[in-house]
Amino acid sequence: MTFAPLSSDFYGYAENLLTDREKDAIMAIREWGEREVLPVIGGYWERAEFPAQVIAPLAELGTLAFAWDETKPFENSAVFRGFVALELARVDASVSTFVGVQNGLVAGTLALTGSAEQRAEWLPKIASAEVIGAFGLTEPLSGSDSARGLRTTARREGDSWVLNGSKRWIGNATFSDITIIWAKDEADGQVKGFIVPTSTPGYVATKIEGKISLRSVQNADITLTDVVVPESLRLQNANTFRDTAAVLRQTRAEVAWAAVGTAIGAYEAAVAYAKQREQFGKPIAAHQLIQEHLVNGLGNITASLGMVVRVSQMLDAGEQRDEHSALAKAYATSRMRETVAWARETLGGNGIVLEHHVARYFADAEALYSYEGTREMNTLIVGRAVTGEAAFV
Ligand code: FAD
Repeated sequence: MTFAPLSSDFYGYAENLLTDREKDAIMAIREWGEREVLPVIGGYWERAEFPAQVIAPLAELGTLAFAWDETKPFENSAVFRGFVALELARVDASVSTFVGVQNGLVAGTLALTGSAEQRAEWLPKIASAEVIGAFGLTEPLSGSDSARGLRTTARREGDSWVLNGSKRWIGNATFSDITIIWAKDEADGQVKGFIVPTSTPGYVATKIEGKISLRSVQNADITLTDVVVPESLRLQNANTFRDTAAVLRQTRAEVAWAAVGTAIGAYEAAVAYAKQREQFGKPIAAHQLIQEHLVNGLGNITASLGMVVRVSQMLDAGEQRDEHSALAKAYATSRMRETVAWARETLGGNGIVLEHHVARYFADAEALYSYEGTREMNTLIVGRAVTGEAAFV
């Protein structure tokens, strides 16, 4: 398939950085997303339903597998994985969030903190979507301060662990088969990770209703009451919160990519609308102030894209630190928030109805802005790096 650069990739990053095989994969994902997802996703968003029919094609397109192939870890570059997140979010941020959870948070946790046996058992099932996963870190009383504030506990009893506590906001968790639960070991106070089958007695997930952002993502409140899991389901290489943070360092950069994709989706829809909508006897695209909206958006997209590309190159080179992905996430989501607002403004009244898509990007941007570390928390991570002073508390 001939590669078609996005007009919004103004400096031609994808054209210049991806291999031919990667370009083919990107085109297949784009073609599927535009054909199968874009026309129907507004309805799912409005009904707050996840389009379950996307899961099998996402697996077939390889979006759930490429990052964590046990036999060839990181065969595909982080830059490529970033472009996949961008392409998916360009169509719909809820679909890209599903992949971000399944392939980023869940497979990422298993790949980085699972034993060889655990990786061999679970990663192929995650890649094929035979098993759907969720990632349970955030709690009702602990969001930004999860490094120190987790209240969910794990108590060792013989060859098993007993988990008690609650989780909030957990994506995919209304239909996941397993949920990674992060809990504090009562014995040593360290955060440990557990693969919890959702059929385990005492595990209850309840959908969070009334969201105005990422409505298609099924977020859940989870309660854990004397949930017993065997030692074989404890992630064998997750011994402190530092191990959890290693997963987040990578997924945070992918959220930055998804933010660029969300901004691009809104920007491209605004350009198309501005060309066909006429006011004062000419297309609104011919009015200077509308051009300024569009060019400001393109500037944001181009700056953010340059940043996420470089952060992913640093990950591939083993040079990426927490502050690098934190800056990319804070910056790209902030620029996305501006860009979707300009796009919404460009459509006038039609900017607030789902039919024209921009309203969905506009609303969805809010969740991307806050999840996987708010702008404030990522700012504090970077601030600590540049000043040597931790200002979290
Ligand atoms: P809080 O931590 O209560 O923060 C509220 C405000 O205070 C924010 O503006 C924050 O930046 C600010 N603040 C907090 N501390 C400081 C400080 N020291 N200095 C300055 N400002 C501060 N979690 C999961 O574990 N798994 C998931 O799959 C998942 N999916 C999500 C999906 C969605 C749609 C959303 C909205 C959230 C999801 N989350 C998930 C949770 C998400 O990571 C948290 O919402 C996020 O980390 C912020 O935590 P909080 O909402 O508790 O906000």
